[in-house]
Amino acid sequence: MSFTSLGLAPALLKALETEGYSQPTPIQKQAIPAVIAKKDVLGIAKTGSGKTAGYVLPILHNFQTAPPSQYREPTVLVLVPTRELAGQVRQVFQTFIPSLTNRPICLAVSGGVSINPQMQAIGKVNILVATPGRLLELIEKNAVRLSSISTLVLDEADKMLNLGFREEVDRILALLPTARQNLLFSATLGEDVGLIRQLILNDPQVIKIAEEPEATDPINQLGYLVSEEKKGPLLRYLIKHGDLKQVLVFASSTLKVDGIVNKLLKNRIHAAAIHSKLGQQARNFTLQQFKSGQLRVLVATDLLARGIDIEFLPCVINYELPRSPKDYLHRIGRTGRAESPGDAISLISPEEMDHFKVIQKKMGTRVKILSGDQLDLQGY
Ligand code: ADP
Ligand code: MG
Repeated sequence: MSFTSLGLAPALLKALETEGYSQPTPIQKQAIPAVIAKKDVLGIAKTGSGKTAGYVLPILHNFQTAPPSQYREPTVLVLVPTRELAGQVRQVFQTFIPSLTNRPICLAVSGGVSINPQMQAIGKVNILVATPGRLLELIEKNAVRLSSISTLVLDEADKMLNLGFREEVDRILALLPTARQNLLFSATLGEDVGLIRQLILNDPQVIKIAEEPEATDPINQLGYLVSEEKKGPLLRYLIKHGDLKQVLVFASSTLKVDGIVNKLLKNRIHAAAIHSKLGQQARNFTLQQFKSGQLRVLVATDLLARGIDIEFLPCVINYELPRSPKDYLHRIGRTGRAESPGDAISLISPEEMDHFKVIQKKMGTRVKILSGDQLDLQGY
């Protein structure tokens, strides 16, 4: 099945061809016609399954058929949890917008950079991609109004409706017209399904793409049982011994992330950090370097666990386990994307073992666990 039968405008079909998207992914097959038909959608499909284009393409189609020039306020709002994701989603819009004859203007706004340029630019915007905090700031400064929003997207929906964001998102929702299209996309769905139902007022189309059978699971999971003080040497052993060229390492705190990076640098392994305490410029630069293969090891907090699309990332290492099985799933979802298999390695201290068992049980997988302490880590 090709994109042709989904009802997309010819201009978009042409752009898809140029981009090398020959076939819609399963979530796109179902989401695209539903979004074009202005239905509400709850789309659940695993990481890397193309959820972004699943809403970007039909939204742009709808602009093509109803020219954007008639609006003076944004009509589409996409809420995302991180600055990185805001930039990435805008990029996907930007990939397809030039092919249209009716070209909407898309802007991403998020914190960590000066608000002034965003205040200047936001006046002419049709599609606004935003993190909740910065959007509320802009609203408070009267730089933007949300009273013309006709389509709302919550990307990483469960995260956006989770405790950390709930209050901000609720404040934003209160400013939107009640008659609107709601599109919620996520790889995982929190326990709070009731709330999601409540939010999707209008007879939602629920699209749930089943996980592929394990035989074709592109992620090889592996665990090392290792004492806390040997995690550093083991990490360096895995990188050097395995000759890993592009590794994403997750740790739980900003402090820990910085510590790991320092140790790697001391051992002459090219590494850098991404966490919330770093400025936007630094974060962008580091992510860019990592994506382009110029940075060997990127160490990050869970900030980077969500939604970030990195092609052919061969290896993810959990230096510490995440708190929830859901976060584990998002973290390891950074590897093994787009048909290229990847490794997800967890360094598990004896204290973390029970927690790892809980994660495995929730995921319904059994991960092979090796003894890290038995390895000869001298010199690493
Ligand atoms: P998700 O949000 O589901 O985790 P993304 O939207 O970030 O996934 O897409 C993952 C990758 O798949 C991106 O690099 C994107 O360009 C690519 N992709 C999306 N749809 C298609 C398609 N139909 N054909 C080929 N590649 C696609
Ligand atoms: Mg995504």
